[in-house]
Amino acid sequence: MSRSRSGLAAIALVALFSGSINHAEEPNPNDFTFDEFLIAPVRVHLMSAKGVPEWETTLSEKDLARVLTKVNRVWSQAGVCFYIESLVREEAANQDLSSELKSQSDLRWLLLLRPDSSKSEHQFHLYYIKRMPVNGIYFREAIFVKDTASLRNVEGGIDEPLPRVSSHELGHALSLPHRQATTNLMASGTTGTRLNQQEIDQARKAARRFEWIQTAPDILKRANELYEAEKMTEARKLYEALGGLPVKSEAVERAKNRAAE
Ligand SMILES: [Zn+2]
Repeated sequence: MSRSRSGLAAIALVALFSGSINHAEEPNPNDFTFDEFLIAPVRVHLMSAKGVPEWETTLSEKDLARVLTKVNRVWSQAGVCFYIESLVREEAANQDLSSELKSQSDLRWLLLLRPDSSKSEHQFHLYYIKRMPVNGIYFREAIFVKDTASLRNVEGGIDEPLPRVSSHELGHALSLPHRQATTNLMASGTTGTRLNQQEIDQARKAARRFEWIQTAPDILKRANELYEAEKMTEARKLYEALGGLPVKSEAVERAKNRAAE
């Protein structure tokens, strides 16, 4: 009796396990082409704060290049690529915020740290600060990520927290809600990076609604125009983004060559 019961339990467990693998968490079979890739600009803000050391990031530009490369590995499963439109080092505004405000559970006060001069409507904004009460947080205006983020490891998860937290918050920016399957990108506090088909479709649909997120062919056209106009610094950013796309394409090869000029 007990033996057959445990046997049944084992079968049920196997069914449950394979069910979850076959369903939501299967690496998705999409193979996005060059023409399908959506390219989104982000402005990276490395914050300093003379009066509030806990806000001052110690991340370097090299760190951010690595983080973005990993973010793009995560988001390639949805055919989305982010590139650094600009990276600014800047002193946080409003460093004299009251401790009453800073202790509120609503973290919208973080938005007060944004200097006006680097605000803009035409890209996502990622602010990196040393410490805050959560790993990362998304607001429509801006995303905040803390240097010292830490996550719970899950099977197949990413090898460091910052790209995961950045990717997760960008997921919110592309309309995705939380989904607490631990290996999922939208689970809270884990190293999971997967998206299911429904999330991929939803994120791509949301991305297409931003007029400043363009397809790879449109970005290539803009890069070529900038190149012809001898605006090499701007052209190079776009060629680098295109050259990093994980697709086999002549356009990608040409972009790589142009980026190296
Ligand atoms: Zn979240």
